[in-house]
Parts: sequence; structure tokens; C-alpha cells
Amino acid sequence: MTNGRALAKAYLEQQRLLGGDAVILPTAALAPGTPDLRPGSGKPASEALPPPGLSFDPPSGDLFAADPVQQARTLADVATLVADCTKCKLCEARTNTVPGEGPTDARLVVVGEGPGRTEDETGRPFVGKAGELLTKILGAIDFPREQVFICNVVKCRPPENRLPQYDEIAACVPYLFRQIELLKPTVILAMGGTAAQTMLNTKQSLGALRNQVHRFRGIPVIVTYHPAALLRNPNWKRPTWDDVRIARRILDS
Ligand code: SF4
Repeated sequence: MTNGRALAKAYLEQQRLLGGDAVILPTAALAPGTPDLRPGSGKPASEALPPPGLSFDPPSGDLFAADPVQQARTLADVATLVADCTKCKLCEARTNTVPGEGPTDARLVVVGEGPGRTEDETGRPFVGKAGELLTKILGAIDFPREQVFICNVVKCRPPENRLPQYDEIAACVPYLFRQIELLKPTVILAMGGTAAQTMLNTKQSLGALRNQVHRFRGIPVIVTYHPAALLRNPNWKRPTWDDVRIARRILDS
């Protein structure tokens, strides 16, 4: 479904709810292999996937290029490169790099913003209170944390937990993109504005990006709140639950 078509459907649904006559749009062709979970497809509305959103398709690496990140053949290779990386100023104050962790055959990849204090101390992503909440969120969709690859946009802690800066993201993102290239997951869950904007190459707000199925190199990307934000604002737990259930439906389809 195109963006225009999605907008038209949303508009017509709005009109219907306001009392207008129902309008049936001709059925658009689905891409081969795409499950038909659209409204009106016979599936309950709660199972329908939201409309498609942005698509970001950065060029893949050239294995014959001199860039060692592109030559990394495994996630462990990527982690080794990250451990010695000094490509941006975040290397100066780090205790440990935090490349990410999870099984090499993970179907779900969670991408956050960057390591915090506990992550910097341990070298592990999403530990501490936000990590505990992430574990609960994943458990709520029957996805044990051990089955998920969890990582961040930047692999070293920004001082005082500030947002990573543009040059730091630009320096670090080849590691993330290579990890995703090696993992080939079924779904990516981008948690927080930095992760969403990086995965989709956009400046749109998190609020504008939610409730759509975006694509990164063809892989569905679902955008939701970062667990640390949920700790500050529990009102976002409900929309987060809605978002992760979308990811679950894609994994189940
Ligand atoms: S944040 Fe990324 S690019 Fe910067 S030093 Fe750490 S690993 Fe290297």
C-alpha cells in the first residue's frame, strides 16, 4: 500500500467514524509473501498491521573494500573492531565499549540510543532499570531476552547520558549497519527517537514515526519509546505495548 493510499484510507475511516458513508477502495496488490493483515482482510482489526512508512536502503558494504567493518565476517569480528575503536570522541571517557549482545540467529533486533552508566561499567547493553523493563516488555510478547539481539546506535557512553551527537552517530553507525547485515533479522524494534531517526534516516519525531511499518533494507522497522523514557513517563507504557505487539504480529506472520 502506498503512503497516498494509506492516507486516503485513514481519511475515509475518519469520515466513516464521523457518520459518513462507507467507501470501499479497490484492493491493492500485496508483495509476494506478504501476509494479508490489512483492515478488511478478514483478520480482526486488532491484528491488522499499520500502514507502511519510510524506507531506508543505504548501500551494503563491499566485501572487497578496504574498510575493516565491511570485511567483518561475524558479530564477534564487529565487537573486536568496536573494542579498539577511536573514531569519535566518545572513546575518551568510556570504561567499556558496548557492542551489543544476543544470538547470531536472532529474529528480533532491538536498537537503542547508547550505553548508560551501568552499560559502560559492564560492557552489556540495556542493563539496570531500563534493561529490566526491556526484559519485561520482551517477555510480555513471549520473546525471552536471550532470543533477541540487543544493541545501540553508538557503542560508547555519551558523557552524562547526553544524546549522541551527529558526528558520533555518523562515525559509529557502520558497526550497527554491519551487525544488521550479518543478523538479517525478521523485525527491528527501534527504541527512542535517536534509534528511529538513525534507522530511517529522518528527522521526523518519534510520535510521527510510531504506528507504521517502516523498512530498513527491506526489513520491517517498528518504532517505539525507549524504556528509560517509560520509567520517566509511565503513560507511554500503553502505546509501547501496542507497538511491540505489532512487532510480534510480524514475527508470527
Ligand atoms: S562511539 Fe562508536 S565510533 Fe565512537 S569511539 Fe565508540 S565505537 Fe568508535
